[in-house]
Amino acid sequence: MSEQLVIIGSGPAGHTAAIYTARANLQPFMFEGFSAGGIPGGQLMTTTEVENYPGFPKGVDGQTLMAAFREQSVRFGTRIVTEDAIRADLSKRPFVIASANQEVTAHALIIATGATARRLQLPGEKTLWNRGISACAVCDGALPLFRNKPLVVVGGGDSACEEAGFLTKFASKVYLVHRRDQLRASKIMQERVLKNPKIEVVWNTVLVDVLGSDAVSAVRLKDVKTNRQRDLPCGGLFYAIGFDPNTAIFRGQLKFDGDGYIVTEPGTTRTSVDGVFACGDVQDKHYRQAITAAGSGCMAALDAERWLADHGVH
Ligand code: NAP
Repeated sequence: MSEQLVIIGSGPAGHTAAIYTARANLQPFMFEGFSAGGIPGGQLMTTTEVENYPGFPKGVDGQTLMAAFREQSVRFGTRIVTEDAIRADLSKRPFVIASANQEVTAHALIIATGATARRLQLPGEKTLWNRGISACAVCDGALPLFRNKPLVVVGGGDSACEEAGFLTKFASKVYLVHRRDQLRASKIMQERVLKNPKIEVVWNTVLVDVLGSDAVSAVRLKDVKTNRQRDLPCGGLFYAIGFDPNTAIFRGQLKFDGDGYIVTEPGTTRTSVDGVFACGDVQDKHYRQAITAAGSGCMAALDAERWLADHGVH
């Protein structure tokens, strides 16, 4: 028998979709993921304090928040498997979604697979990851490891500027290393960076390696105009070079925008395939907040519920 509804992904978008559809008696079946998009629960699982999720005036730990989301999904009957969906066939209905251990068919599908922060894949990155390299300054910047040291942020977008500014609270100095001679960030973010006496922008420069034995001690930089290399001592390296939406299993089956995000019809969560809905960061490169992901998860649930009713699947 086919599932009425399968949800892939277990961040705020996936679980909100699950809570709503479970309460509508659709008995959703969720692939919460295992390692494909990081760890189950999404990006909040690697965040410490969440202070901007409404309802928590004193803030809430990211993992605590996601455990509560999950508990609420299960309470209303969501069935969850801790596996990555590794294959999807959206060419006909019911759709087929498979993990390494099972294959399910679904009349409707909600994709909530999120996005993953990009890394540079530097030679020293593997050994020094979590020993001074992070893809989230806001999550990790306050750790003792980074206090009162020079820190490096890579990137030239709004994230890089925001993170550089944030890190000046803890660092002795912040170097913003950018590969071009112009920032991509919005004017206001650029101004904040350029006016901040604790931030130095290192223009036209790329990283070729990160150095250190137990912890990051320096980055090796290359000036792209002169090709000259130099080592810049620092106690931490933060990537802010964008995100990749987690869409590998849907390639060629849905409409994507130029950056690889799933295209949804404005004001809805409908994708280019009838019966497939997308919510959260996999279709949102602009807001990318837990609350907006949760909001779009609710939209996907209501869209899917209506779609199933219209197609006589109860
Ligand atoms: P982004 O705008 O795509 O910027 C990524 C930056 O990383 C770019 O400057 C890019 O350089 C650089 N980069 C990419 N790959 C690189 C590589 N391999 N090596 C070196 N540099 C590399 O990403 P984002 O800053 O995360 O922002 C994403 C979206 O969220 C944007 O729409 C942004 O406006 C929004 N956002 C808004 C706020 C805010 O308003 N407070 C905060 C954060 C994010 P190039 O410039 O040369 O391409």
